[in-house]
Amino acid sequence: MSLQERDKKHLWHPLTQHKIHPNHLPIVSAKGCILTDDKGNEYIDAIASWYTCMYGHCNEFITSKVKEGLDTLDQVVFSGYTHKPAIELSEALMDILPKNQQKIFFSDNGSTSVDVAIKMALQYHFNQGEKRGKIVALEGGFHGDTFGAMSVSGLSVYNGPFEDFFIDVARIPIPNKDNIQVVIDQFETLVKNENVAAFIFEPLVQGASAMYMYDAHLLDELIAIAHENGVVTIADEVMTGFGKTGKNFASEHLNNKPEIICLSKSLTGGIAPMALTTCSQKIYDAFYADEIGKGFFHGHTYSANPLACNAALASMKLLQTEEMQENIQRVIQSHKEFNTKVKDHPKVKSTRQLGIIFALDLNIEMERYGNLRDKLFQHFMRTGVFLRPLGNTIYILAPFTISKSELQKVYKSIEQALEIV
Ligand SMILES: *Cc1c(COP(=O)(O)O)cnc(C)c1O
Repeated sequence: MSLQERDKKHLWHPLTQHKIHPNHLPIVSAKGCILTDDKGNEYIDAIASWYTCMYGHCNEFITSKVKEGLDTLDQVVFSGYTHKPAIELSEALMDILPKNQQKIFFSDNGSTSVDVAIKMALQYHFNQGEKRGKIVALEGGFHGDTFGAMSVSGLSVYNGPFEDFFIDVARIPIPNKDNIQVVIDQFETLVKNENVAAFIFEPLVQGASAMYMYDAHLLDELIAIAHENGVVTIADEVMTGFGKTGKNFASEHLNNKPEIICLSKSLTGGIAPMALTTCSQKIYDAFYADEIGKGFFHGHTYSANPLACNAALASMKLLQTEEMQENIQRVIQSHKEFNTKVKDHPKVKSTRQLGIIFALDLNIEMERYGNLRDKLFQHFMRTGVFLRPLGNTIYILAPFTISKSELQKVYKSIEQALEIV
């Protein structure tokens, strides 16, 4: 029996209706930007396996650092115990995080990092005797699939069974130059009249909303209003973190720094699942007390797993090398040139780019698009490129290390796709 047939017997895949999509492609190895399937076909991973493997798959510097620690310290409880990999990682992060970030809390994935942030914000107020329970979020945001993260995400047709159990959330439109005053008014009314605990947002780019991009200075205005009204700000940088926007963090594009930042995805360079919720001293201080109950009683068994910490530490080192920074600039420049080439194509409605994130909206109606999606996906796979269009948007978020010729192959495949739609 093939791997694909064996898969069908017992595996239940995420985000999948198995009756409609029964087949899952077996990938047997991954190296650099290349995924290889069980028949030996190769695909360029142009979305870095959901924005994780930014230094290339099985990066040898990262794997060597993980191997070094593998026989020394595998796992230990992180309450009451600590270890060098976590300490060194915290120090490395302090070098690059926005200066107001002082404390680092570990969890296992992007969704849990968001749930931690929400609980931190709620308890921050609770510890100070304030009852604030509402969270303000941006429409169309995506923050994950656990209950808290799902609640603050944009409304989805898939949320039906759970909506009655969501935490209390108010959503405001994403600000743009035309609606900014309306959004500000709506936000001010909320924070002045309701018990708003926190404001959560994906800074500058909404990943799951087809790489929707919005201006830093507009977000800056909302953050300022939040801070004036004692509302805790949470930047979900699970997707944007670690270099993708051309700076280490999207929050660096902002003048007003968020109090809490969520990080995961490329934190370990794709080697191990791990996430961080970082916060300012002010947030931490609200938990620091003689009373035990004022502490933050949230924890996961694998918090700060030493092997994942080693992978993250190696990733941080790689990100800061001159070579990696040059790679980032090279990809940014390359996308700009590609943009000039395709932006006026009749099948292209609009294009946008921030850092190494490039997105292109197709100029076709969504009804027609329904049947096209699978066709497009298959076209990309046939040409040896792994791209995953979102709605009628094709986007590239490839590893920083993608070579010039690999990039050209991705562009060519997209140009061919424009001819078949
Ligand atoms: C992917 C993502 C999450 C959820 O992360 P998981 O590791 O899949 O739980 C949360 N926020 C943003 C912005 C993301 O892109």
